[in-house]
Amino acid sequence: MQKDIEIVLFPNEVEQTEIINQKLAEGLKLPQNRIKGYEILKRSIDARSRKVIYRLQIKVFIDEEVTTQSFNIYYQNVSKAKPVIIVGAGPAGLFAALQCIENGLKPIIIERGKDVKQRRRDLAAINKQGLVNTESNYCYGEGGAGTYSDGKLYTRSNKRGDINKVLQIFVNNGAEKDILIDARPHIGTNKLPHIITSIKDTILNAGGEVLFDSQMTDIIIESGKVKGVIVNFKDNLLASNLILATGHSARDVYELLNRKNILIEAKPFALGVRIEHPQEIIDSAQYHCDIRSEFLPPAYYSLVEQVGPRGVFSFCMCPGGIIAPCATGENEIVVNGWSPSKRNNPFANSGTVVQVTLNDVQGYDPLRMLNFQSEIEKLAFEAGGGNLVAPAQRMVDFVNNRLSIDLPRNSYLPGTKSVMLDNILPEFVSESLKSALPLFGKKIRGYYTNEAVLVGVESRTSSPVRIPRDKETFQHPQVEGLFPCAEGAGYAGGIVSAAIDGINCANAILDR
Ligand SMILES: Cc1cc2nc3c(=O)[nH]c(=O)nc-3n(C[C@H](O)[C@H](O)[C@H](O)COP(=O)(O)OP(=O)(O)OC[C@H]3O[C@@H](n4cnc5c(N)ncnc54)[C@H](O)[C@@H]3O)c2cc1C
Repeated sequence: MQKDIEIVLFPNEVEQTEIINQKLAEGLKLPQNRIKGYEILKRSIDARSRKVIYRLQIKVFIDEEVTTQSFNIYYQNVSKAKPVIIVGAGPAGLFAALQCIENGLKPIIIERGKDVKQRRRDLAAINKQGLVNTESNYCYGEGGAGTYSDGKLYTRSNKRGDINKVLQIFVNNGAEKDILIDARPHIGTNKLPHIITSIKDTILNAGGEVLFDSQMTDIIIESGKVKGVIVNFKDNLLASNLILATGHSARDVYELLNRKNILIEAKPFALGVRIEHPQEIIDSAQYHCDIRSEFLPPAYYSLVEQVGPRGVFSFCMCPGGIIAPCATGENEIVVNGWSPSKRNNPFANSGTVVQVTLNDVQGYDPLRMLNFQSEIEKLAFEAGGGNLVAPAQRMVDFVNNRLSIDLPRNSYLPGTKSVMLDNILPEFVSESLKSALPLFGKKIRGYYTNEAVLVGVESRTSSPVRIPRDKETFQHPQVEGLFPCAEGAGYAGGIVSAAIDGINCANAILDR
């Protein structure tokens, strides 16, 4: 017999099977010898009251041996099957490729950036010299923006597809099994590159292709149908199905579609800054203590406030994290955040952003939100003075319209410069942040402090352009065989939702 039960444990008890067995027996009112084993289904931290606890949902095996289901997918050889072109080797492109293989189709991924190994050198140049390779950076290359991301696998897109399948595939390729049970699953930047490489190897072993240094520079369309793509301005690659999974940073792709009169639409997004605190401040507030217990992970937060008509919210919070320089073009600053699997850096950062609506940017140009985003990124670059030095201001100084005399030690490697962020952010963004930050300070003790630094600008929160597609067929309404996919097309906002959208596009091709 099997029964599901929730038990509550103190942090130091979570790894202790004896205590867990005891609690299960108590909870089920059974003698311990009838419990033959258990499987943890979900694990979450509950820090609402003074004593922080773990909640575990557990499947208990009573009078029967433990059986666990293994998750394995058979990837057939598709080297001679019908080809599907996938542009972009981010989470969407990679998971679309795996699903194509499951469906008996041959994926050919073309990726403008480099493989993981070579990409690492370009990231070192970004961090140490402030030099951006516009084809190989934090967003472009094997694994896309996902490879050097934080690897938080939270998603709200439950309805869109099989989250568990995505998590299982990550585990089969080297992620810790913990991601299957944690309420806030996290892989960590140090582990992602190996996992991404393993997924690529699966694709290659099954007869798929992955071509690096291969930028899609045009789409070949005849009589409203996809015929293929042009790679690096010269080579033709032919197929009648094209998954466009180019992420939200590939501005040239939106410009290409616009030039070709393929319908795209301006899309709202969010804009703001990355805020960094000493991790101890967040730990102490969230766990109601002076020093975090060794049995608890660095603490997390999620904040939201409505300021007049606008939402101001934190997202992509990285406990024990690093602020990353994520520009893809020259003379622009874009920040984001990541953390290693142990989350053992001394800082906590999160994107803290304000909604930007279509009414905020005048005109009808489908690229107007993108141009607006790009202008702010350029202003940030100029304010920093070059080499990816980022404009920054202490939190209380920002709210009180004071230039910071100095800046606190922070994790952004190319360096920060004290400026008035008001000179970079649009007034409605600045003012909304100024109203929200003291209110956030009422929710998290110690949050509103001059020890926190605001680093500009967090601008690539989601795509500023949508590429429309039919709800049923997933194809562009004007171009048969064109499947706009995931974050770049406006249908995903994170690793898991991008992966799910990739799977859905591959399935739509099978239906076609
Ligand atoms: C530092 C950082 C931290 C992040 N942390 C998290 C996190 O913790 N959790 C989370 O869910 N999300 C996180 N994200 C966001 C996440 O990485 C993205 O949501 C996700 O990668 C989007 O997947 P995608 O496949 O749609 O696009 P991308 O991952 O952006 O991939 C698109 C790929 O297309 C390629 N490409 C673009 N144009 C062309 C072209 N013309 N020809 C050929 N190839 C092209 C690009 O080089 C790129 O590799 C983070 C992002 C960054 C940068």
